[in-house]
Amino acid sequence: MSASEQPHPTRPSIAASTGYRLGRVLAPNRAYRWLAGRIEARPRLRRWFTAAERHSKQRLFGCRMCGQCALPATGYACPMSCPKQLRNGPCGGVSANGDCEVYPGRRCVWVIAYERAERAGHSADLTLLQRPVDHRLAGSSSWLNYWQGRDEGLWTSDDGLAHPAPVHRP
Ligand code: SF4
Repeated sequence: MSASEQPHPTRPSIAASTGYRLGRVLAPNRAYRWLAGRIEARPRLRRWFTAAERHSKQRLFGCRMCGQCALPATGYACPMSCPKQLRNGPCGGVSANGDCEVYPGRRCVWVIAYERAERAGHSADLTLLQRPVDHRLAGSSSWLNYWQGRDEGLWTSDDGLAHPAPVHRP
């Protein structure tokens, strides 16, 4: 991977409120599921659709095509643009002024995410726990995965603290 291909914190080029509106428009329903099925049945159409998603979301969010889009829970700032690709908040290296440890002078994408979510009244989303990424879906269309229900349960419905997972000891 060349330096230019490395993830770097990206400030989205659209407002969070626009992202939330788009999110509502793209919410799964029977029509989208039918459409996704038709697209997936045609390899060329699927490649075209995936390329269109890549092109638009790279420009808007610095999307890395992880295939399991976390944007609705992160203030519409892409967590995969974090150089460490952390999905559950910033590392311990974020500076006091909010800059990224790896790219000083660039704002940490998790600080951007919080600021955007807070302005849109969605700061509580940042307490939800993102589940591990399924790397087998990397490069695929997150919209198709979303409409087909392949990314359900990407994040918890609460902060997970009320019902922590049991600790298994040998
Ligand atoms: S699909 Fe993955 S990489 Fe792309 S914007 Fe969503 S979270 Fe980021």
